[in-house]
Amino acid sequence: MLESKLVGTRKNLPKGAKAVLAALKQAPEMLSARDLCFRMKLTKLASDSAAPGLTTVYRSLELLTRLGLVQAVSVGDAEKRYEAIEEGEHSHHLICKVCNSNIKMKDCLLSSIEEIILREHGFSVSEHLLELFGTCRTCTVAASTIAANKDTAPAKTIKLERKGDLK
Ligand SMILES: [Zn+2]
Ligand SMILES: [Zn+2]
Repeated sequence: MLESKLVGTRKNLPKGAKAVLAALKQAPEMLSARDLCFRMKLTKLASDSAAPGLTTVYRSLELLTRLGLVQAVSVGDAEKRYEAIEEGEHSHHLICKVCNSNIKMKDCLLSSIEEIILREHGFSVSEHLLELFGTCRTCTVAASTIAANKDTAPAKTIKLERKGDLK
């Protein structure tokens, strides 16, 4: 069975990959390899064991992604972000281009599309990637507030700077 094979492979994970997976599971959101490495260094400062270097983190993330324990997400810049997932599951994200925050979507919206593709093209989809880019609610509200206040707001920043200079 495919599942038991995956579990077996998971059991034989190298030490570094285990640590990377554990750290990624604790992260509040998806992280780049660099950020994850930094985060691991910070947490390891409290204990005596050494944190893995960036190369180990990269290699481990590659392995974990291949095993389906981690999902790699392209967010529009050069660095991929990674997140721990349950075996066989995947997720999609809404990524704000203004503040870079991301929202994990609860459901996969593509299963019905895959059915249509199979029916119309005879093409059986085995995997897919989908990230949606735009503006989050907070940034949309902030932008409209700024736009509304544009004509009435005085140049507050200049006044504040002068006040600071007097000290
Ligand atoms: Zn935003
Ligand atoms: Zn999906």
